[in-house]
Amino acid sequence: LLQLFIPLNALGFVYREIRQALVNVERLFGLLGDEPVIEDAPSAKALVVEKGDVRFDHVHFGYRPNRQILRNVSFSIPAGHTVAVVGASGAGKSTLARLLFRFYDVNQGSITIDGQDIREVTQDSLRSAIGVVPQDTVLFNDTLFRNLAYGRPDASEEEVYQAARMAHLEQFIHSLPDGYNTQVGERGLKLSGGEKQRVAIARVILKNPPLLILDEATSSLDSLSEQAILGALKEVSRQRTSLVIAHRLSTTRDADTILVMEGGRIVESGNHVELLGQKGHYARLWEQQHRIGDDVVRQAPDHGPW
Ligand code: ATP
Repeated sequence: LLQLFIPLNALGFVYREIRQALVNVERLFGLLGDEPVIEDAPSAKALVVEKGDVRFDHVHFGYRPNRQILRNVSFSIPAGHTVAVVGASGAGKSTLARLLFRFYDVNQGSITIDGQDIREVTQDSLRSAIGVVPQDTVLFNDTLFRNLAYGRPDASEEEVYQAARMAHLEQFIHSLPDGYNTQVGERGLKLSGGEKQRVAIARVILKNPPLLILDEATSSLDSLSEQAILGALKEVSRQRTSLVIAHRLSTTRDADTILVMEGGRIVESGNHVELLGQKGHYARLWEQQHRIGDDVVRQAPDHGPW
């Protein structure tokens, strides 16, 4: 009986891991459960990422046939660069990320990675090339170490420690009596939004994908956490093509390009200094936030993740 129990127990573990991963992805993308099933094209090939250039070319998209969400969106993220997207709630920021991950297909136009249309590559190869840092990361009921190692289960101990260091988590972990052995998750220590996001960043560092989608946490952070997040973000986006849904001006300031979205269109693009100089939407957002002393790039109340 014991012989039967051990594999069954292992199976239970695998099942829990898979289920948890799905929950993560669903939460990340704010999926509602009635998503269309995207299938691989019969001729689909594995995506080959040589440099990591991403391009949205005249993309039109709506979740429903009678309601257009993205209108003629074109931009590119050169390999290794960071593009930050800002705009009011509902402007279509997260939709860009969902399309890049191919949860939906565009209605018109195309999205390419190193010239390969993402509709013509296998979903497995596409998704394993993209690391995702959601606003709200799910932690398993397990130790912090195992939660970090989830990024790459075959990572060595030293690699996990190094990823934690790069994600600016080390100081926090050392402040815990049980350090890496601290139990976290629903039944363990609850981590703050910023700490959870750094766990997700450490997982991506371990997974080491060429592309990154990051949905910045909207929760307000004290300045120490803010600095830690910024440092972690710099590490994870270094030499990775990154699409960041930005809620903080401190993040946009460092981005190579900022896209300002309004009603599904890109209404401005440029770097921080250029956009301030244009005295348009971005400059107004910036001024507004400085006036209210809040560093969150939002014009409307939060209505949930992505
Ligand atoms: P926020 O900052 O609040 O997350 P956002 O700019 O990321 O907003 P999106 O999540 O991209 O906005 O949503 C753009 C529009 O698409 C919104 O009007 C939203 O209601 C709609 N939308 C999002 N997901 C779905 C869905 N699964 N089905 C139908 N409409 C959707």
